[in-house]
Amino acid sequence: MDEILTCSVKDLRTKICAGEVKSVDAVKACYKRIKEVEPKVKAFLKLNEEQALKHAAASDEKIRSGQKCGVLEGVPIAIKDNIMIKGESMTSASKYLENYVSPYDATVIERLKSAGAVFIGRTNMDEFAMGGSTETSAYQQTANPWDITKIPGGSSGGSAAAVSSAMAPFALGSDTGGSIRQPAGFTGIVGYKPSYGLISRYGVCALASSFDQIGSFSKNVYDTALLVSVIAGKDYRDPVCEPTEQTDYTEGFDNSGVFKKLKIGIPKELSNYSSDGEILKSFDNAVRNLQLEGAEIVEVSAPSYKYVPALYKVIMCAEVSANIATFDGIRYGYRSPNGISLNDEYAKSRGESLGYEVKKRILFGTYVLGAKNYHRCYHQAQRVRTLLINDLNKAFSECDFIFSPSTLQMPVKFGEELPEECDIFLIAANLGGFPGITVPCGFTKNRMPMGVHFMGKRFSDAKLFQAAHAFEKISGFDMSQYPKI
Ligand code: GLN
Repeated sequence: MDEILTCSVKDLRTKICAGEVKSVDAVKACYKRIKEVEPKVKAFLKLNEEQALKHAAASDEKIRSGQKCGVLEGVPIAIKDNIMIKGESMTSASKYLENYVSPYDATVIERLKSAGAVFIGRTNMDEFAMGGSTETSAYQQTANPWDITKIPGGSSGGSAAAVSSAMAPFALGSDTGGSIRQPAGFTGIVGYKPSYGLISRYGVCALASSFDQIGSFSKNVYDTALLVSVIAGKDYRDPVCEPTEQTDYTEGFDNSGVFKKLKIGIPKELSNYSSDGEILKSFDNAVRNLQLEGAEIVEVSAPSYKYVPALYKVIMCAEVSANIATFDGIRYGYRSPNGISLNDEYAKSRGESLGYEVKKRILFGTYVLGAKNYHRCYHQAQRVRTLLINDLNKAFSECDFIFSPSTLQMPVKFGEELPEECDIFLIAANLGGFPGITVPCGFTKNRMPMGVHFMGKRFSDAKLFQAAHAFEKISGFDMSQYPKI
């Protein structure tokens, strides 16, 4: 494979800035790879080669003429199709937004532009990020590059597949209930969701506003930290974005002996769930490796883990029904030509353009918010959410990180379902606003990658990167391997 494609973002940007590699060549290498594997993987909804090459040439010219390089100058990146780029289409993989053009840049896009990154294409996803397989996309099914008969996970399956098959060095996704970390685990790459409020949500198409966060996919933890250093930090346009200063998250990465100072909590509840045998075996191995590195392993408990699937469903759907209410066919998006009255037009515009999963969630969300059900469903779920947060905060008083397998099951074939508890250790992070990162840890006998998940206290993201980076070094997972497609 072309050396440019196997290069880390860290090295690629150094080489581009030193003039050793041309940004144009990096972009061309990505598109060459895309032409080879995309017909089978189908990770992208839209590619913009011409525009990307133009931006890359501008970066090269900037460097040639001795101007100051941005942190990600000339480096190609793929963007999930629910994040706005001014003047470009954004579909959220829905027919409803088929002809929608973003009127402004999301904050993360604005920051990536000023850092000099080059956008190479928009990645496929579940419709409005509702799903865990990328199968609910209204446009196409994305395949897992390690086994194209299987799902890549979701909802950010396109971004995960693009990075794991070396079509893009890194990518942005969004994570409401594991949508970055689950597909990252399924495709053998690093997936990160920040603490709630660390990265602005301004310009991301909302799913469930109290959980949504933008995050990243990359081939290693350093590259994630580099990207987060560019996109994180206060933004007055997202009212829940915390007033954190822009920070260099790559600092302090070379310290050895990281685990000697850390207590790693293993959830007692892990044993309550049926889990894939190979996943458990590789997880045990990862725990042993941490122990050998000097980490203190402690058992922690959060009895409310058992409520996670129900809790998530009630609150997420309630927020979906409120957010998707703006999609009425009047303000923007698809408008049915068949409406014979205002109400009929609302109904037909939504009915004709939204997929089954989206309709199901709107209906359930509207039900739990209804006057008769609000107290016993929605309000009760919010109370149990507090219970879970208290449980997890108590666990965090006994350890630095909660460590678990990324998912409890391996990716399935298209059309098959994953059990609803598959992602509970990931979703718990969204429910509590905690940061989480998935790091690959090994392969099954059938050469499918597996991952582990570190979850930290709120706003311990910098420390989380250091632990994940140190784990990466001892995991035994060879990142230079790529799927044969
Ligand atoms: N699988 C979850 C869901 O379908 C995750 C969604 C997400 O994180 N966007 O709701």
